[in-house]
Amino acid sequence: MKSTGVMRGTGVAAVLLLGAVLMAACGGSNDASGGNGASNQTGITDPAVASGNTSLDSSASSTDAAGAEASASGAPEASASDAESSGSAGTAEPAVASPESAGDSGQSQPQQAVEGAGQNPDTSVVANPDSAAVLINKQFGLPEDYEPADLVYPDVPFTFSEKIEKRMMRKEAAAALEDMFAAAKKDGIYLAGVSGYRSYERQKTIFENYVKKDGEEKARTYSAYPGYSEHETGLAIDVSGSDGKCAAEDCFGGTPEAEWIAEHAPEYGYIVRYPEGKEDITGYKYEPWHIRYVGKEIAADIAKRNITLEEYYDAVPVSK
Ligand SMILES: [Zn+2]
Repeated sequence: MKSTGVMRGTGVAAVLLLGAVLMAACGGSNDASGGNGASNQTGITDPAVASGNTSLDSSASSTDAAGAEASASGAPEASASDAESSGSAGTAEPAVASPESAGDSGQSQPQQAVEGAGQNPDTSVVANPDSAAVLINKQFGLPEDYEPADLVYPDVPFTFSEKIEKRMMRKEAAAALEDMFAAAKKDGIYLAGVSGYRSYERQKTIFENYVKKDGEEKARTYSAYPGYSEHETGLAIDVSGSDGKCAAEDCFGGTPEAEWIAEHAPEYGYIVRYPEGKEDITGYKYEPWHIRYVGKEIAADIAKRNITLEEYYDAVPVSK
């Protein structure tokens, strides 16, 4: 266990050093923060109903080249926001040290990676992209040609009305999301989806736009490489209250909706993927709105032990 811990620590340190900046995994990232101000979500009073109101996307904000692209294509922004998870592999290094790749972990672990397969020499492409428990972060990415085969449109409210890519999720995650939103509603908590699935191509477009704008070195500090955004799994989604306020923004933290999610999401197989205080482990700042489906068993264990998905895997081999 120690060694594992050490390795992890080392990896984390590397990530921090390199990445330097922790940005929002959802993309909102820069947007999110900048977004706060920028996002004038003003008009959005009724997101739930939203008729195409793109505005919701914090992404709209500034910088997002992606935003531009998106709008051009008709999809309102596909939220650029989600755009990106930033930070991706910061330059180089983060990874390798990672325990998972090392495989020493034993096979109980769902996670297995093919070293060096990623675009970034220091990152790895996972061998189990279809696993509901797959670990995707700044070190572990999805294969370039990966596309979930079972994407569906969950029957839950979203902050926009269009049937576009970011409204989709993998079937199992979508069903769990429906159960969770229904349960929240019974408790008087009205949730809405903000941004779910994002294709590799979309992430690639977003990243390339950032590169054109700021150069690759800088873009890497705040935008995820295609393949390294958890939204590409179809298992993660950014949520907000049905009014769309604070969608993918820091101000979502502390709201009744955020508190309900933190307390009950695990009952439906979801976890708050980037918890407060775990930034040095996940590589991302606290994102109370970004939830990830991992299945009820793992979600319950993670919640009970108050750990992250990264820690969950490290613990597997040592937890007797
Ligand atoms: Zn997200």
